[in-house]
Amino acid sequence: MSGTVQQTLETREFQAEVKQLLDIVVNSLYTDREIFLRELISNAADALEKYRYESLTNREEAGEEIPLEINIDVDDKEHTLTITDTGIGMTAAELVENLGTIAHSGSREFIRHLSETDRKDLNLIGQFGVGFYSAFMVASRVRVLTRSYRSGAEGCEWVSDGIGTYTIGPAKGLSRGTKIILELKEDAREFSKADRIKGIIRRYSSFVPFPIKVNGEQVNTVQALWVRNKNEVTGEEYTEFYKFLFNAFDEPFYHLHFTTDAPLSIKALLFVPKRNMERFGFGRLVPGVNLYCQKVLIQQHSEEILPEWLRFVRGVVDSEDIPLNISRETMQDSALIRRLRKAVTGRFLKFLQEQSEKGPDKYAEFWNEFGIFLKEGIASDYTHRDELVKLLRFESSASEPGKLVSLADYTARMKEGQKDIYFINGLSREHIEGGPYIEAFKARGWEVIYTYEPVDDFVLSNLMEYEGKKFRSADQAGLELPALETESDSEPLDAASLKALSQWFKEILGDKVSEVRESTRLVNSPAMILNPDGMMTSSMQRLMYAMHKDLDSLGRKVLELNPRHNIIKRLSSLRETDPDLARNIAEQVFDNAVISAGLVIEPRAMVDRIYKIIEQALATREQ
Ligand code: ADP
Ligand code: MG
Repeated sequence: MSGTVQQTLETREFQAEVKQLLDIVVNSLYTDREIFLRELISNAADALEKYRYESLTNREEAGEEIPLEINIDVDDKEHTLTITDTGIGMTAAELVENLGTIAHSGSREFIRHLSETDRKDLNLIGQFGVGFYSAFMVASRVRVLTRSYRSGAEGCEWVSDGIGTYTIGPAKGLSRGTKIILELKEDAREFSKADRIKGIIRRYSSFVPFPIKVNGEQVNTVQALWVRNKNEVTGEEYTEFYKFLFNAFDEPFYHLHFTTDAPLSIKALLFVPKRNMERFGFGRLVPGVNLYCQKVLIQQHSEEILPEWLRFVRGVVDSEDIPLNISRETMQDSALIRRLRKAVTGRFLKFLQEQSEKGPDKYAEFWNEFGIFLKEGIASDYTHRDELVKLLRFESSASEPGKLVSLADYTARMKEGQKDIYFINGLSREHIEGGPYIEAFKARGWEVIYTYEPVDDFVLSNLMEYEGKKFRSADQAGLELPALETESDSEPLDAASLKALSQWFKEILGDKVSEVRESTRLVNSPAMILNPDGMMTSSMQRLMYAMHKDLDSLGRKVLELNPRHNIIKRLSSLRETDPDLARNIAEQVFDNAVISAGLVIEPRAMVDRIYKIIEQALATREQ
């Protein structure tokens, strides 16, 4: 869409997504519609921050010297609310772009989410880059009068009743900034009362770093929380600040307020939210840290201050060592920014480490919500690996259900003779403990880490070792486990018969297995499949299968038989007396082992086979 606006009034259609959103905003009943004011004030404050930045870095364009502030005027008779800022303003092209379309990628999911729920909770609206439209919750008509700070820019006007279209045209006599006039709906006239408005501002916007005046009277006290001494800041102030900064409705889960002088001067305030919104399908989080230099906002949602895998962290980093006029481009390859990033990231990870020691239960809650990001960090970023490894948590055969262990806990408990760290992936604790893989470890009293997500196996394979101890998947074929001292009372199948039985198994299973052999690991299960060394763990294969749906791509397994198990012992003679039944049972033993590994088999053939086995069993009984 071209940006030029004709000299006359022109009517334009909203983009389809905007129409959909407006339809919800205009026509629904909501909770908390007062948040519209928070959104408009937050936009005004953004515009002022941008102007302040421009005026410091780009003096020629800066233009008029008028105070940076937000004025709200309410008219109890006309039922209007007008919010005026002396910020950056918008050109006609920017008006069309900003107030007629939606740029933010997560907003589509937000709109879908809204349209699927009955009780419209628009509290999140600001987080999805569509906060402006919340004005239509209370206004039957919205007028925006604005003039860009750029020298020579013309003023323009945007008007809409929020239904389908808006008009845009030139406006004379405006000074820099934006004036938004809301003609209040009949049922929203409370918002033309000064006291009501003051109350809302105190609730949501006390941290706006510019004066906010209501009918001429200043309501907020301007303050930057992060430059204050942390001993003087209360818990409520942190929470309020967090809510203000991120239009958040939850309380922060953790906060970290710190100051450093060397090697860089940093004042930072970082928050971990309560929930991981990526898990709720709201799309990828945008980075949540704003970069300031002596309280002047340099970059919102900065991608440079924390690595990508810490995108769930929100907050403010202020460093007076950063030049004000640093551009996006120079930021990327600035050694200074790299040092800042290293320092802030390191400090945050150290904070997590402290929290994990001070409050393991609370840390476990954090881990369950955000651990996935730290795993992403291990898999994708070498720089902080050593710190991240210490933050990893798992369930294990030695932990109670739901309780987590660290790798340090694990290695401290390792038994004599145990060189490696063992893990096994399964769908759940029950699935793992019901399967064949941990039998050998249980029998030896060795701990096994339980991993429930395929990504865990990638992380551990990627790490390779922890303090010189290798990570090994318990479904690997080449594990060396010491012989068990306590012999079981049941006699094993003799070596010659087992060898013959193994050969017979291999003939039946053909290409599905690379080898059939005696197991030294199994205790209670008749058989299990293992992955030849160098092959992916079963959970990684499960992931491959989910992507390619190709059973043949899974690769050939090693099948191990338990010579003490009754099924194996009886099969050895059954294959002479009833070869048909023996064959079906052998195939079924293999399929069961595949299922125990969490892998998929072809169900149709298995169901047919089980029917045959049942038939044969019933027939034998009748004889
Ligand atoms: P967001 O603030 O998350 O970008 P909004 O829907 O609140 O989403 O606003 C959309 C855009 O409109 C803003 O990004 C900004 O470019 C522009 N805008 C809104 N209000 C103002 C204002 N008072 N001054 C200048 N630009 C504004
Ligand atoms: Mg906004």
